[in-house]
Amino acid sequence: MLATRSLRASGCRSPAVTQPRLALGRGRLEIVCASNAKFFVGGNWKCNGSVASVRKLVDELNSGSVPRGVDIVCAPPFIYIDYVMQHLDKDKYQLAAQNCWIGGNGAYTGEVSAEQLQDFGLPWVILGHSERRSLCGETNQVVAKKTAHALDVGLGVIACVGETLDQRNSGAMFQVLDGQMQALVDEVKDWSKVVIAYEPVWAIGTGVVATPEQAQEVHAYLRRFCQSKLGTSVADQLRIIYGGSVNDANCKELSVQEDIDGFLVGGASLKGSAFVTICNSAGPKAK
Ligand code: PEP
Repeated sequence: MLATRSLRASGCRSPAVTQPRLALGRGRLEIVCASNAKFFVGGNWKCNGSVASVRKLVDELNSGSVPRGVDIVCAPPFIYIDYVMQHLDKDKYQLAAQNCWIGGNGAYTGEVSAEQLQDFGLPWVILGHSERRSLCGETNQVVAKKTAHALDVGLGVIACVGETLDQRNSGAMFQVLDGQMQALVDEVKDWSKVVIAYEPVWAIGTGVVATPEQAQEVHAYLRRFCQSKLGTSVADQLRIIYGGSVNDANCKELSVQEDIDGFLVGGASLKGSAFVTICNSAGPKAK
């Protein structure tokens, strides 16, 4: 499938990665090129770790050499955020929460609001992860409303979408993705602080990574969806990152795909050196 990103003279990254090419698109000749958005790597630590292991991971990350031109965002469990915020090198890494409440502060026992994350100094939150959709019953509408609220408060949102294996095998994949994306389109007004994480459920935590072709196909599809709903400018700028069994061995062949703007990493983000290698897979896509 062809990506639909348009070439803008000032917008493309270095010529090494943004070789413009000509493509036939909807009856006319289009120039398409790789993203002009900054490469983004998120580390989703999930419900893992202990005081000792978090300290070790922070030390490993701090000693790693990562490119300056990549947004690198670590998402520890809530309980360790304070420690990580105090000790992780801020020049290299930003922080995200793994979830937040759908609205503001109040009588919502066990929840943490976007307002509190913002107040505490967190710039990002992950929303709509498939584990929250399947284990906590978060619907497309809930994820979209959470996303809109977090954005209103000023957070950046890593919004996750993706199909199960049954949905892919039954031919419902694009319909499922459309539903997840349309809910976001219906609620989100400003897309400048949204990162879309395409995470096929069958690839999360399984060791079965999507092939570069499978990932690129869906990323290009999602970008075209956004282009048709939100316009070329938003679609061009939108970062669409891939998640699902990314590790230090497979990241490079994925990162060179035209519409892959980074990664959301689970298991491998718990190993400092592997995560640093993944961050460096941006190569010339690092701005
Ligand atoms: C994730 O949980 O977002 C994820 C991609 O996990 P893993 O890398 O372990 O598949």
